[in-house]
Amino acid sequence: MPNDIVYLDHAATTPLDDRVLEAMLLHLSGATLRGNPSSLHAPGAAARETVEEARAAVARLVNAEPGEVLFTASGTEADNLAVMGLAAAQPGKRHVVISAVEHPAVTKAAEHLEATGYEVTRVGVGSDGIIDLSGFAEALRPDTAVAAVMWANNEVGVVQPVEELAGLCHEAGIPFHVDAVQAAGRLPIDVSRVPVSTLALSAHKLYGPQGVGALYVREGAELEPVIVGGGQEKGLRSGTENVAGIAGFGAAVRLAHDDLEERRRHEEALRDAVISGATSLPGVRLNGHPQERLSNNVHLSVEGIEAESLVLYLDALGYAVGSGSACASSTIGHKASPVLLAMGRTENEAFSAVRISVGKDTSEEEVEGFLHAFTTAVTQLREVSTFTLAES
Ligand code: PLP
Repeated sequence: MPNDIVYLDHAATTPLDDRVLEAMLLHLSGATLRGNPSSLHAPGAAARETVEEARAAVARLVNAEPGEVLFTASGTEADNLAVMGLAAAQPGKRHVVISAVEHPAVTKAAEHLEATGYEVTRVGVGSDGIIDLSGFAEALRPDTAVAAVMWANNEVGVVQPVEELAGLCHEAGIPFHVDAVQAAGRLPIDVSRVPVSTLALSAHKLYGPQGVGALYVREGAELEPVIVGGGQEKGLRSGTENVAGIAGFGAAVRLAHDDLEERRRHEEALRDAVISGATSLPGVRLNGHPQERLSNNVHLSVEGIEAESLVLYLDALGYAVGSGSACASSTIGHKASPVLLAMGRTENEAFSAVRISVGKDTSEEEVEGFLHAFTTAVTQLREVSTFTLAES
């Protein structure tokens, strides 16, 4: 990352921690003989040991057994495997429940099932982004093959009541998948207390490398693979393991586990400073529940301004922030965020939304500088803006 840019888009991806890079380099440099973890010889056994150490570390982060963790090539793949794999394991059941604010890794998997004849119920959220609990309970049916709700939202940062949702599914005997990609490393996750069937994680949201994910699969949960081949990862995710990436993931989750509380306190103080500074400007409104939100997330609608212009203006001033959804903002073109629409925001409010996400290494000075830049950008853009709000 260039040193002259202040990075405030940690919800999109986090910088690689130096200690993580060190752990990865051991497996990337020519100094170590790199074996295939499935090989029987010593270099293979060494690679296997690395993978298993990382598996134990990921398991510890969510209080699971190492044997319940599978490595994948992304959080997206973990979500796909859970939604499609849980559904495929129960061929007699053809109904799926998701929330209206899921990440595309879940919504598209559900749409894929829909195209093959499944019925999908999308449970709505309130204006604060929190799922309608009774609507969720009513949506569950005897023929529901899988229900999926994210732990925390990638756009607005809202934290869902997953414990209650998991309890409802558990009582009804319905497999429940949780996308914890944004939550992991920011909130304590304990699968011994929350009866989820599967839970998705991604290394690059907690200072690990991009392109490595994991799926927690509770012992006894029935799952069919989506990717088939050499039978790695208990046959549930074939393909030679990304040993260096997995080593990095292991190092990142060890740090996340040990520093969780400290990171949370640090981020919350900065988040609250951004919220109070930014919303003191007229026409700037916080999206999502003010308390039930991730420690690092600020999501704002800025009246009279198009998000893209604001993001580019701030970039020119040396501040990187997100517009719309991290993973989709460059690909969705001019479609308003389904998450904000589900929360009852107008299209204009959705188009004027920016996300500022702080991280463990963000400083108070950077936040102060950002608030100055934000005030300048908003004032200047409003002066020249032709974008008008259609107030309803
Ligand atoms: N789920 C959520 C909530 C996310 O925020 C993301 C990425 O932004 C993903 C899934 C996908 O993870 P990955 O980028 O590892 O595919």
